[in-house]
Amino acid sequence: MSDNLFDLFAAGIRDPEAVAIEIPAGENIRYRDLIARSGHMANALVELGVQPGDRVAVQVEKSVQAIILYLATLRAGAVFLPLNTGYTPAEIAYFLGDARPRLFVCDPARQEALREAAEGAGARIVTLDARGQGSLTDAAWIAPEPFATVPRSSDDLAALLYTSGTTGRSKGAMLTHGNLVSNARVLIGEWRFSDRDVLIHALPIFHTHGLFVATNVVLFSGASMIFLPKFDVDQIFEGMSRATVLMGVPTFYVRLLQDDMLNAETTANMRLFISGSAPLLAETHREWRTRTGHSILERYGMTETNMNASNPYDGPRLAGTVGLPLPGTEIIITDPETGDELPAGEIGMIEVRGPNVFKGYWQMSEKTAAELRANGFFITGDLGKFDERGYLHIVGRGKDLIISGGYNVYPKEIETEIDALPGVVESAVIGLPHRDFGEAVTAVVVASGSPALTEADVLAPLEGRLAKFKQPKHVLFVDELPRNTMGKVQKNLLRDQFAALYD
Ligand code: ATP
Ligand code: MG
Repeated sequence: MSDNLFDLFAAGIRDPEAVAIEIPAGENIRYRDLIARSGHMANALVELGVQPGDRVAVQVEKSVQAIILYLATLRAGAVFLPLNTGYTPAEIAYFLGDARPRLFVCDPARQEALREAAEGAGARIVTLDARGQGSLTDAAWIAPEPFATVPRSSDDLAALLYTSGTTGRSKGAMLTHGNLVSNARVLIGEWRFSDRDVLIHALPIFHTHGLFVATNVVLFSGASMIFLPKFDVDQIFEGMSRATVLMGVPTFYVRLLQDDMLNAETTANMRLFISGSAPLLAETHREWRTRTGHSILERYGMTETNMNASNPYDGPRLAGTVGLPLPGTEIIITDPETGDELPAGEIGMIEVRGPNVFKGYWQMSEKTAAELRANGFFITGDLGKFDERGYLHIVGRGKDLIISGGYNVYPKEIETEIDALPGVVESAVIGLPHRDFGEAVTAVVVASGSPALTEADVLAPLEGRLAKFKQPKHVLFVDELPRNTMGKVQKNLLRDQFAALYD
């Protein structure tokens, strides 16, 4: 047997009759259905010209058929390339031009708008809609079921996944079969997944969280998932009556906390709540625990490395930390200037090495050489520190670090103080160009409304709590913080918007 993720998944299926995917008000997909349907689809892909190593680019709504397409692409030895459903035709043209896929799968409603982008990149275009219908499914229907999965080694590419573009233009991360399989296995062990688990899947499947973390963990453990098209509070509550695990971004938890239904009884069947993709506020962690008795398990990862660290299943899950390095993954903190390793307690660049770490950026050999060291460590771009218990704390992205008057200011420390003030919903602290200080610490705050919060209300309480150089020079109020589709705050947009504040 080869190291093709699909082969390893298929060989591990213990009960082909077990339900893999449950769609509310729809059919149940059994493990044997995944095998059969991915066989039809893999044959269709080959007939459409897909060869081993080719990219299959996919911008479709979340559906079971999209999961089948993921598995079929792996079976064909090709490289799965999912794209955010929010991308415009101009953005799609960039990604297709960069990745040069053989095939581009899109929603039928967008086919005409995207045809030019696809053809310009030399890709054939086929369709798949939210219900799983389209010309690709038509081709799969008439294609035979038996398919000899193309052997792959663990070092062969399985996916080309673009980063979320929070700090700049998205980069294509080359992920191997070995990257994905090793991470799925480690997470199953760490989070105690088994075939008795039912996961509520409400994440998008064009991102590492919903596609690899959630889907691969379920498929490799023989568990099942309740497959929701998107996050919907009522559907989550309905699912929690029979599910055991929820994987979410922090906004899921914030929004569930706003619902009176959330309590120990409505979450009694659940054994685990996992959060990642963006920082979970310590306050959210504490409130969740008070309301439900469950302690959210926060973990840390990224497109390039899959998952790196996780709070423990047994043992304390510490609010505001991302826990301990996963087994097999090494994490070190280094001096961003020299690259020398720093001792516990000191803030520096987070670097990661392990079987989970990607092969490099697609067609960006200089960037790959600059960020992936010869010794195998990947320079993540995130700043953090280890505490005395060995827990990793993320203090923010290197690009968001503020240098004001020669002092390093870590936005998260100030945001934590501001977020704790009455009347504050959330905040983002950024550095803006300033003649004297280089950068001026500036707080952008979302307030809860009446009574209206003033700049002084925010600044006064910080006086005794933060050193002078960390205190914001100005507080700006906005209705909401700009977020990308993964719920990440886009500080670069705030920096652009307010660039002239201190002119
Ligand atoms: P780009 O690299 O294109 O700017 P991105 O880094 O947001 O976008 P992703 O790979 O989707 O793209 O996100 C990974 C990043 O998300 C991490 O580098 C980290 O900054 C952040 N992140 C993930 N999990 C956590 C967490 N638990 N706490 C804080 N930050 C997190
Ligand atoms: Mg990134």
